[in-house]
Amino acid sequence: MKNYWTESKVNKLTKLWEEGVSARDIATKLGNVSRNAVIGKANRLGLSKKTLKGEKSQNKAIDISVLVPNMSGCKWPIGHPGDSDFYFCGKEVIPTKPYCGEHCLIAYRRKDNSQKIKKFFKLNSEN
Ligand SMILES: [Zn+2]
Repeated sequence: MKNYWTESKVNKLTKLWEEGVSARDIATKLGNVSRNAVIGKANRLGLSKKTLKGEKSQNKAIDISVLVPNMSGCKWPIGHPGDSDFYFCGKEVIPTKPYCGEHCLIAYRRKDNSQKIKKFFKLNSEN
């Protein structure tokens, strides 16, 4: 089933998932796909995290300020909020930082603070 996930299928999956439709029903609506494939795709899109706690999104627009406090892992946004492929990095974060190592470097480089961060990593890697 190569290239099954066309853009329109992904958009449909995202929309149905956010409406709280079950993976089984989504699979039926999309056609020619298993429930597991739907769940797997939703995981890769980062959709499952939002519904794990049983919360339905009230608003289709993604509000970062609402999402961020509820998620663990790196809070670096990938893509543009509101796009169907928008998600947060989600990797393991550096203690006391909101981002993973990779994104800390980017975030702090932006603030011309890279020396401080490099020092931080060096100290940690020598443990
Ligand atoms: Zn990250």
